Amino acid sequence: MASSVSSTSKSKLHSVIAITGATGTMGKATVEELLRKKDKVTHLKLLIRPSKKNRKLVKKWLTYTNVEVIWGDLFDIPKIKQLVFRADIVLHIGGLVSPKADYVPELTLKVNVESVKNLICAITDLNQIDTTRFVYIGSVAQYGSRAIPLHWGGPGDPMLPALYDYYALSKILAERIVAESKLKRWVSLRQSAILSKELLYKGNSPITFHVPLNGVLEWSTIEDTVSLMVAVCKIDVSEEIWGHFFDIGSGSSFRLTNYEFESMLLRALYCPPPEKVFEASWFAHRNFHGIWYWSSDHLNQLVPFRKGITAEEYFINMAKSLPTYFKLAGIIPSGIIKMFMKYVASDRHFGTLGWRKENNETLLKAFFIPGMTNNNWSQALIVPKPDTKDKNYKILDLGYDRWKPFRELSLKDMQSLAIRRGGECLSESMKDGDIKTPLTWKCSVGHVFNTSPTVVALGGHWCPECSPWPTSDMAKKDPLIHDIYMSTHNKEELND
Ligand SMILES: [Zn+2]
Repeated sequence: MASSVSSTSKSKLHSVIAITGATGTMGKATVEELLRKKDKVTHLKLLIRPSKKNRKLVKKWLTYTNVEVIWGDLFDIPKIKQLVFRADIVLHIGGLVSPKADYVPELTLKVNVESVKNLICAITDLNQIDTTRFVYIGSVAQYGSRAIPLHWGGPGDPMLPALYDYYALSKILAERIVAESKLKRWVSLRQSAILSKELLYKGNSPITFHVPLNGVLEWSTIEDTVSLMVAVCKIDVSEEIWGHFFDIGSGSSFRLTNYEFESMLLRALYCPPPEKVFEASWFAHRNFHGIWYWSSDHLNQLVPFRKGITAEEYFINMAKSLPTYFKLAGIIPSGIIKMFMKYVASDRHFGTLGWRKENNETLLKAFFIPGMTNNNWSQALIVPKPDTKDKNYKILDLGYDRWKPFRELSLKDMQSLAIRRGGECLSESMKDGDIKTPLTWKCSVGHVFNTSPTVVALGGHWCPECSPWPTSDMAKKDPLIHDIYMSTHNKEELND
C-alpha cells in the first residue's frame, strides 16, 4: 500500500537524536551521514568512552555546533540520563560485537544487557516513555545455527544462540528487555554481518574457520545500514515499524553461501580461490549462525533503505578501493598464503586445527558433526541458489499461520504455538489482535512465565528460566527446537 511507504528522502529528521556506539563501524558511519544531511539534525547527542583513541576520532565532530559529545560509558547512569534527556529518538548501536566479543564473553554479556537496562531506566525516570523512540540493534546471531533446508528465516523463528556464543545470548536477553519494556515506540532491527571496505583488512582471524562453507548469510552493506539508520530518524517513518522485529539485509544478490562469499572476498583481495588457500576440513560443520532473510525485503518496503547496488558490483568497488600493494597478493604463490592460513587456523583457543591438536573434545563436538568425514569442497556447493522461487527450503512451522495479519492473532494461535514449543498457553482469554497484553505460558519442563504474544510469537523468545542453548534434551521436549536441532545433528546425537 502506498500509504505505508513513507519516509521519502526529503522528509525531515527528528530534532534531537541520541546515539550510542558512535565510534564503531556502524555508529561512526551513521554520525557522518547525519552530519552530511542538508536538513541537519538540530541536536546530535553522542555517548563516547573517553579514551585517547576516541578523543582523536571525534575531534572533527566537535567543530559542529549541533554535536554534543557526552564523555562516559554505558554503565555511567548520570551520563546516560544526559544522553537520552529530551531525545526524540535513541539509536542504540553501542555494545561489544563479534569478533571482539568472542574473546571477552562475560564482559560482552554484561555490557550488552546492562546498557539496555540503563538506557530504558533513564528514559523511564525522565518520564519520556511516550516521547522517546528506541531503536535496538539486534543480530542475525540470535537465530543461531541453521542448515538446509531451514536456511531461510525471520522474525518469529526461535531465538537459539549457537553453543558458547555469548554475544548472541547477550543480544537475545537485551532485546527481550526492550520488547517487554513500557516504551511506546521501540523497534528491534536484527543486523546481519556488515559488508564494508574495512572487512578486506580483517582476513586473519581464526573465527573465519567457524563458518560452515555450506552455510548462508544475507550480507548488509554499510551504506544500506547507514541509510536505514537515517531513515528511521525521519519524522514520518512508517508507524508500522514500532513494536516489531525486523532483519537488516541488502537483499537478493547479497544472499550468499559462505563459500560464495569467501570466493568473492578472495577475488577482491587478488588472492587465489578458496580451494587453493584453504582445506575444506578446516571449516566447522555447524554451530555458527546465518540465514537468508525473508523479511528484509518487507523492511525495505516500509522504510526504503537499499541503495540498489548488487553484491557483484559491491565487491568490484571494494577491490578498486584497495591500495596498489594489495595487487602483489596475485604474485604470492598460493602455497605461501595457505601456509599462513593454516597458521591462523592453528590458534589454540579459536582455531579449528588448534582444537584438533589440543584434542578439545567440547569444541570439536559443538562445531563438527561426528562421523562426517567427507568434508570436501563439493559440499560447499550444495546450497540452493538464492532464488525465492527455489523450493528446496522450508520456512519453520510455528504451529499457526505465521503470515496472518497481527490484528487477527488469537488465543487459539498462541495455544498452538505453545504446543509446538512443547508447552502450554495457560491464559484463558485474549482479545483478538491484542499482541501487547502479557499472557501466561508454561514451557516443556513446567516453568511458568508471563510475557506478551509480541515477545513470543513475533520475537521468537520463550522460557526465560530454561537453558538458552540448543541441547539434545531440549530437542526431545520442544518439537520446534527438534526441527532446527536435527538439521545440524545426527540421530545418534539426540540420545547423547
Ligand atoms: Zn523453562
